[in-house]
Amino acid sequence: MFEKVLTQHIQIPESRDIDYYMKHGGYQAFRKVLKEMDPDQVIEVVKESNLRGRGGAGFPTGVKWGFVPKNDDKPHYLLVNADESEPGTFKDRLLMDGNPHLVIEGAMIASYAIRANLSYIYIRGEFVKEARILEAAIQQAYDKGLLGKNILGSGYDLDMYVHRGAGAYICGEETGLIESLEGKRGWPRIKPPFPAIEGFLQSPTIVNNVETLACVPFIVERGARWFKSIGPESSPGPKLYCLSGHINKPGVYELPMGTNLKELIYEYGGGILDGKALKAVIPGGSSVPVLRPDEIDVAMDFDSLAKIGTMLGSAGTIVMHEDTCMVDALLNLIHFYRHESCGQCTPCREGTNWAERILKKIEHGQASEKDVDLLEEVANHINFRTICPLGDAAAMPIQSFLKKFRDEFNAHVAQHKCPLNSRL
Ligand code: SF4
Repeated sequence: MFEKVLTQHIQIPESRDIDYYMKHGGYQAFRKVLKEMDPDQVIEVVKESNLRGRGGAGFPTGVKWGFVPKNDDKPHYLLVNADESEPGTFKDRLLMDGNPHLVIEGAMIASYAIRANLSYIYIRGEFVKEARILEAAIQQAYDKGLLGKNILGSGYDLDMYVHRGAGAYICGEETGLIESLEGKRGWPRIKPPFPAIEGFLQSPTIVNNVETLACVPFIVERGARWFKSIGPESSPGPKLYCLSGHINKPGVYELPMGTNLKELIYEYGGGILDGKALKAVIPGGSSVPVLRPDEIDVAMDFDSLAKIGTMLGSAGTIVMHEDTCMVDALLNLIHFYRHESCGQCTPCREGTNWAERILKKIEHGQASEKDVDLLEEVANHINFRTICPLGDAAAMPIQSFLKKFRDEFNAHVAQHKCPLNSRL
């Protein structure tokens, strides 16, 4: 039986209180690192656990922390990426709402490990309630002497602040986030240099996702071996899966990494809405390649999904039933990416605009076969030709929808209308 840890004590509103959190073992891991471990030992245990980033890329967290220089004279920063904006993804919000101290404790341990004395939680602008919850929780941590100067007599200082974004998807990209936090337009930077060497205010900076940091206190307390005993060894641990779309029981499910996608949909999610047939699933947030029903008998982890040509991403699983018009669904996604493109790179700025216009023509029965080919060409010219992954995020759905549901695009062209009448 899998023991939930990230969501085990979510009993809103009690679980937002520091006394409730401490009564259930909260801040013991932070006390442990301050008393018993040096920063490098913390990095080692996280490396050993194989914790991989939960924000989308799946990069090993301990390895990332290890890139921060050890003997430089610059300040270091830990930035918590709480700018959760990927369509279909709403897990970090749940953690911040119901278990804010777990996120804060993870950020404290990460700050200690990378020798940072200042940490910001960069939160999506629309999450007003969650920003207030975090601010109240941070104040409680100060009041208990867990933040500030000489924490618990250890000689370690750490300050933490919440910074609200202004609702731009691109500020969830780590360098866009850094630019925004510096008070500038949230334009992603060309890498290298990577933030671990030159990030916030040109100093070594680590940007970690909320769920990633929420795993850290458990790794410190229970050990890397415990963490690796959950799910596949190459990407272990508890995982928050978001289920949305045409599903009977949408929501956030904490399950072992590597849970089977079919099981997630039919057992945990209660199957497809209105007893209809499944048509498609986007497994990892709107930017990852779509799957057909014959492809869903797969483990939901980074490597298994990569093997079948898609990605775990943020584990935002979007379910679509048989009545879904795939042209309309893609148009909806591309409208989002066109709107959120920051405009720096021509392939992304112009390509998303062009793709949306072509998709509108197809959906409204005004396109020719050449337009479908042109749509594919536009996507091919965006992919891998941009500064940040938003370009790829827009191109991949187009490429995969066309690869797997091209008949439906052609039917729109041949019938001069949407065969499913989705836009009457
Ligand atoms: Fe901006 Fe798009 Fe280029 Fe990313 S890929 S930097 S969002 S224009």
